[in-house]
Amino acid sequence: MPKKFIKRKEQREKKRIALERVNILFSLAERIFPYDRELANRYVGIALAVQQKAKVRMPRKWKRRYCRRCHSFLVPGVNARVRLRQKRMPHVVIKCLECGHIMRYPYLREKKERRKKKEMEGKLIQKGRKIK
Ligand SMILES: [Zn+2]
Repeated sequence: MPKKFIKRKEQREKKRIALERVNILFSLAERIFPYDRELANRYVGIALAVQQKAKVRMPRKWKRRYCRRCHSFLVPGVNARVRLRQKRMPHVVIKCLECGHIMRYPYLREKKERRKKKEMEGKLIQKGRKIK
């Protein structure tokens, strides 16, 4: 096997391991959060270091579970406020109650997809009626 491919394979393996560790660290943070927030935040810090070093994307599941500014682990309703806003662009507003940082995540794409799906379903229903 050429060296290039071996290297690529190695890198893929590294990324896979990094992702696995990010997942484990966030799961630990979630579990320990009710008992020890400080420790939960430390897990997040390590997870972020791993993620940045390996240059992997933050899994969707955890993307909104930490503060971008103070790196606190966030639990909606406990130390994070989550609101939906429609102004200008539909988005989710997550406010970190530890440091007051505000993060916005647009969900226009999700909305579009949903609309598409609904339209499709509508068409199917119409078709069904026609057959009857
Ligand atoms: Zn914060």
